[in-house]
Amino acid sequence: MNNKIYIGGKWVKSHSQESIAVFNPTTGEIIAKVPNGNKADVDLAVDEAYRAFPNWAAKTPSERAELLDRVAELLSKKSDILAKLITSEVGMPLKPSKMIQVGNPIESWRHYAKIAREFNYEELIRNSLLVHDPIGVVACITPWNFPLIQITHKIAPALAAGCTVVLKPSELAPLNAIALAEIIHEAGFPPGVFNLVMGTGSEVGEALVSHPNVDMVSFTGSTHAGKRVGAIASQTIKRVTLELGGKSSSVVLDDADLTKAIKGTLNSCFLNSGQTCLAHSRLLIPEASYEEAKTIVLSAVEKLKIGDPFEEGTRLGPVISPVQQKRIMNYIHTAQKEGAELITGSAGIPTELAKGNFVQPTVLGKVKPNATVAQEEIFGPVLSIITYENDHQALQIANNTIYGLGGGVWSSDLNRALQFARQMRTGQIDINGAPFNTLAPFGGYRQSGNGREYGDYGFKEFFELKSIQMEILK
Ligand code: NAD
Repeated sequence: MNNKIYIGGKWVKSHSQESIAVFNPTTGEIIAKVPNGNKADVDLAVDEAYRAFPNWAAKTPSERAELLDRVAELLSKKSDILAKLITSEVGMPLKPSKMIQVGNPIESWRHYAKIAREFNYEELIRNSLLVHDPIGVVACITPWNFPLIQITHKIAPALAAGCTVVLKPSELAPLNAIALAEIIHEAGFPPGVFNLVMGTGSEVGEALVSHPNVDMVSFTGSTHAGKRVGAIASQTIKRVTLELGGKSSSVVLDDADLTKAIKGTLNSCFLNSGQTCLAHSRLLIPEASYEEAKTIVLSAVEKLKIGDPFEEGTRLGPVISPVQQKRIMNYIHTAQKEGAELITGSAGIPTELAKGNFVQPTVLGKVKPNATVAQEEIFGPVLSIITYENDHQALQIANNTIYGLGGGVWSSDLNRALQFARQMRTGQIDINGAPFNTLAPFGGYRQSGNGREYGDYGFKEFFELKSIQMEILK
């Protein structure tokens, strides 16, 4: 399958002779090679998606939903293999890999099938018939950190809505996308409804974004790439949804259970070795709690095992690449230069893990609200503790970043926490570590993006609205 991409219901040779090596971040070894696709591949994929659109859009929602349910079934059957594959290419420990990286997609393909069956596609507004019309050909561009989840929350609602799709997965973790394409094929989707082209963002990504027959781009990735995608897409006025970076704050109010709040924040910040867009990477605590917080942090971090993600009990695997590893370590150095206190962790590579891209879980104290590590997305296991004097100042600090993706509030008084959460300029807020809800809308304020994924709101992004005015009969 090395030089093949999935177009028009078949695995076909890429027009490109080049390939991209996929590395195991734990060992540094090459585990596969995939085609480094090009513009000719994109043109072919978009043509197939464009041709397949009218018939797919004309199917009933239940016909489409049946195929989505079939994908969920096949994902479920192959969940062990998929979890291992994702652990090999992303480095997340196997247990959460199975639970989150594969569990979320299985549940979500089923959810979108149900939503498609139950959705109100038409409604009357005075003398107008309002029709939800699938938007057309959708280009889906995804990152590597929760690869199958990010792919799912684009292609499942798009396909359920009646759109056809061309997917460009991350070049760093494309193997799960190939496995999904095989499942989609086995499920029996008509040719051309789903297409997969591997390659880089600058070549395949930009060819998709600029293509005149692509009606919508659903993008997840860095804010830097999102800006470029938005700029290119504006030339053809296509719809663009953007799920971008974050710098989320976990705010511990002075009546909260400090130990519970710190442990919960560490879990959020270090999940997937900190490579989570929603990571609570800033911990805001009352000034008076700082010394106590340090003791809690030290005892909690000591218990976190870092190492081989296939080994039972490992909590932190490697980060995705040597480039990312170096970037994270530079951030830790910068923080120290800017006056932060290194509470635990280090900017050095753990010697026994030198083959992989490992970074010690690191907690920085006395971080100033405007310090580099308090403002920029690090995408690694680095928590910055910032202290505040009163709730008003805590809110100002929490809202003072270019991002607005996630956040947390900790308090023993739900009403107080809710009042604080209502004032936070961010898309997802968990009170006292409440669990993620796969039916609630997910997305960002400000430079964390535009549009929403998950549930009904995610589904609605894939429609045009058509108003048909009718005569009022007397
Ligand atoms: P990235 O921006 O480097 O790449 C994401 C995808 O975009 C890849 O498929 C890449 O090939 C493609 N791409 C890059 N440049 C492009 C261009 N000019 N045109 C078209 N496509 C282009 O991001 P990454 O390193 O893969 O992922 C990490 C980033 O993603 C972090 O910033 C993280 O916060 C963000 N992220 C956001 C969410 C969210 O839901 N908000 C979820 C996960 C990750």
